[in-house]
Amino acid sequence: MSRQIIVGNWKMNGTSRDSLALVQALVAGVPASAADVVVCPPFTQLALLTDTLKPSTIALGAQDCHKDSAGAHTGDISAPMLTDLGVSYVVLGHSERRQEHGELDETVREKTVAAIKAGLTPIVCIGETEDQRESGDHFDILGWQIKGSLPDGFAGILAYEPIWAIGTGRAATTEEIAETMTFLREELVRQFGEAGKNIKILYGGSVNDKNAASILSITDVAGALVGGASLKAEAFLSIISAAS
Ligand code: PEP
Repeated sequence: MSRQIIVGNWKMNGTSRDSLALVQALVAGVPASAADVVVCPPFTQLALLTDTLKPSTIALGAQDCHKDSAGAHTGDISAPMLTDLGVSYVVLGHSERRQEHGELDETVREKTVAAIKAGLTPIVCIGETEDQRESGDHFDILGWQIKGSLPDGFAGILAYEPIWAIGTGRAATTEEIAETMTFLREELVRQFGEAGKNIKILYGGSVNDKNAASILSITDVAGALVGGASLKAEAFLSIISAAS
């Protein structure tokens, strides 16, 4: 089995000084045998952190990219701009971008194509709302999101993040995650055939140092996408230690 991946999504948090301090603590604390680790700071701090991360195995990720490689798109950042800085992963279709920026599955798919073309590994997020889970529609929703957000020949990582679990302190239960992983794997194989068996699936939503070990031991969970707890070195390091 390949190593698990622990991804820290810092969202819109931290000054340069905070980010440097956090990364220095992670570089000093990540054991050599640990899981693959990725940190996704805000765009403005990517360049600042590359030198500090260089001697470590921690990879750099971004939180979004545009579907075009260049052009008249004020305020946007393209995938080749990210590879140019030494970024290797990009989170796409996070529920906060879907909600706050009106990103549709189609937008996410176009960005995913651009990321892969530029040599980035996309981490494509999908997840249902609380209402959708309560009404029993969640598997339909997740199936549609997979169909709409992942392009043909998808070469990347899928992140299952139930929206109701993000930033709420209420992670999905191990039973809910296990059942959803089984569904997602079946759906990936339906859509991509044999290749669908190898697409890694992360879980995200209130992962912390207390619940990481049980979540990461669920069959087919290839790692975790971590928001709040990735901003504290101690908590993030203990999540990393819980991975295999
Ligand atoms: C996220 O934003 O991707 C996330 C999982 O956040 P949190 O860990 O804070 O729930």
